[in-house]
Amino acid sequence: MRPQSLTPLFAQVTSLPGIGPRLGKLVERLAGPLVVDLLWHLPFAVVDRRKAPRIAEARAGEVATITVKVGQHLVPRNSRQPYRVWCSDDSGDLCLAFFNGREDYLKRLLPPGEVRVVSGKVEIYQGELQMTHPDHVVPLDQRDSILRVEPVYGLTAGLTQKPLQKAIAGAVERAPGLPEWTDPAYLARQHWPGWKSALEQVHSPAAEADLLPQHPARARLAFDELLASQLAIALIRHHNRTVAGRSTKGDGHLRDRALASLPFELTASQRAAIDEIAVDLARPERMVRLLQGDVGSGKTLVAFLAMLIAAEAGAQAALMAPTELLARQHYVTIAPLAEAAGVTLALLTGRDGQRQKKATLEGLASGSIRLVVGTHALVQEDVEFADLALAVVDEQHRFGVHQRMALSSKSHAVDLLVMTATPIPRTLMLAAYGDLDVSKLTEKPAGRQPIDTRTIPLERIGEVVDAVGRTIATGARIYWVCPLVEESEEVDLANAQERHRLLGERFPGKVGLVHGRMKGAEREAAMAAFADGRLSILVATTVIEVGVDVPAATVMVIEHAERFGLAQLHQLRGRVGRGAARSTCLLLYAQPLGETARARLGIMRETEDGFRIAEEDLRLRGAGELLGTRQSGLPDMRLADLSAHADLLEAARDDARLTIERDPDLRSPRGEALRALLYLFRRDDAVRTLRAG
Ligand code: ADP
Ligand code: MG
Repeated sequence: MRPQSLTPLFAQVTSLPGIGPRLGKLVERLAGPLVVDLLWHLPFAVVDRRKAPRIAEARAGEVATITVKVGQHLVPRNSRQPYRVWCSDDSGDLCLAFFNGREDYLKRLLPPGEVRVVSGKVEIYQGELQMTHPDHVVPLDQRDSILRVEPVYGLTAGLTQKPLQKAIAGAVERAPGLPEWTDPAYLARQHWPGWKSALEQVHSPAAEADLLPQHPARARLAFDELLASQLAIALIRHHNRTVAGRSTKGDGHLRDRALASLPFELTASQRAAIDEIAVDLARPERMVRLLQGDVGSGKTLVAFLAMLIAAEAGAQAALMAPTELLARQHYVTIAPLAEAAGVTLALLTGRDGQRQKKATLEGLASGSIRLVVGTHALVQEDVEFADLALAVVDEQHRFGVHQRMALSSKSHAVDLLVMTATPIPRTLMLAAYGDLDVSKLTEKPAGRQPIDTRTIPLERIGEVVDAVGRTIATGARIYWVCPLVEESEEVDLANAQERHRLLGERFPGKVGLVHGRMKGAEREAAMAAFADGRLSILVATTVIEVGVDVPAATVMVIEHAERFGLAQLHQLRGRVGRGAARSTCLLLYAQPLGETARARLGIMRETEDGFRIAEEDLRLRGAGELLGTRQSGLPDMRLADLSAHADLLEAARDDARLTIERDPDLRSPRGEALRALLYLFRRDDAVRTLRAG
């Protein structure tokens, strides 16, 4: 049960002063539906209103709080002119300007002849001192209430600072004092304030410096958030371990047959990964392991061999891919190996016909189908397994936490292997998964050549097209990725269509197009034509990023490479260099290049090491942005900034680990305090794993 003292924080935001149903909706969109959500909405700037000059002493460009006598109102003659109110003190005149100002309202706000205190940015307009839309206009007796340093919060359309400030102040006031959950020795070493005091401090910054992530109050709250998250992850993992798992052991006969059919040897890291997985599967505890490896490092094969272990043990295994295209591709890769091993393999996607789907479902339920590859269709309710022992989830570069859970709940104690092509920096790994077991594929399969990466200004696109012509004459195949236009799929599409048309005029019959709006079948037809060489150039929006395997493709052209993130560039480049032939990646950029874009392109030229690129990406962008946290399934950190608080993350991990060792059911006084912390950060799921008592 959530502690009583937290109840006021879990009320709707509309329970706060000044927040009715209309503003409530906006606040909810901005921060979340509950009072506690507003606590975590921290100011990003301050406005110092403590300068209170006389009019003659006010400086243009500065924020000032000025006591004035209201003079004449000048109603504008047309709507382009502002409504003006002339004010003065004994040193000079100040004009207040309001665009679209309503006369009745302004007459009430600024009655001629009376004294008012106005606060806002002072500017000079046509030689006169002016304040456009003052932030505050109050009677003299309220002067002190605005003569202060004001926190500035991020807003959403329709919401303004004042009501938000008031609501947040109300939320902070409601926050109860709570028993300290931080380890006392650690707290003392850090010189941090207590929780409630930290909360008050972050919402009443006195200067810019108070907004820095290292400020003791900010650091304290960041640590609280990280500790809640690490503790929750550790509790759930502890719980899952103690829930009876199953031991899956194979004798290797299926793996031997599959491997014998391969024209190549496993790399050392593929072998190591398989061994680690086999050990995990054999243990009676539940496996949760991440298989991390760059595009083309051979994860699919490792996953398949792991699935064969399940089949050797007489059980079933499933591989779930994020898209139809990928599921089919995995299926195509795996099918010959499954056949060589003599194991039944099925494909299950949303596009299967009724008859086929029925047969697959029956096979899975009876156990006659041992291995299955599919899309989200695998986690639909009508899918039942006779004996699912291993679930493999290919996440590419998404963290689909929910689907992953859904698949592993298809049978009790299913072992879980998560494949990801995004080399995740250590800090992010830790934040998302805590101390997760990881197998890394660090080498590329033998025979792969380094990719020659070049950066070329867009003005030279003509030369690039000429070179493309020479290259396809030799039978090469080329990806041409069109520019990414922020938040506009239509424009992306228009760009790709235009490029397709232009290249098509130059190389008739040789150019295909794929984009995200295409029907699956259409897209697959284009991909297939490219894969078997009927098309030489494939123009694409970024859809090809998501795992396409055409080993014969040797050139990747990326238009407006400066608009892409590092991870994305790396993923795209990974589409070439998959065969034995030498590959090239041409990054076309528009000038002038910004500093970050220049750094990104430099790193791309310098290295192909996905792990290094991921670290650089984190450094250049900051963690929140890195994977698009909101859709990614990464914990949505509101207080912690993983690039600034990496050390706190490590400390939180250690603390969580130690806590679970000493007090796994959180029964000590500190344990009790930690329960409140978990509730505060909405980790009720973790609290539920605790034994009652
Ligand atoms: P990933 O899933 O990591 O992107 P894949 O498993 O799709 O990589 O492998 C890419 C290509 O490399 C596939 O065509 C696969 O058959 C091949 N491959 C995998 N392992 C090896 C290896 N040890 N040696 C040579 N080629 C390999
Ligand atoms: Mg793959």
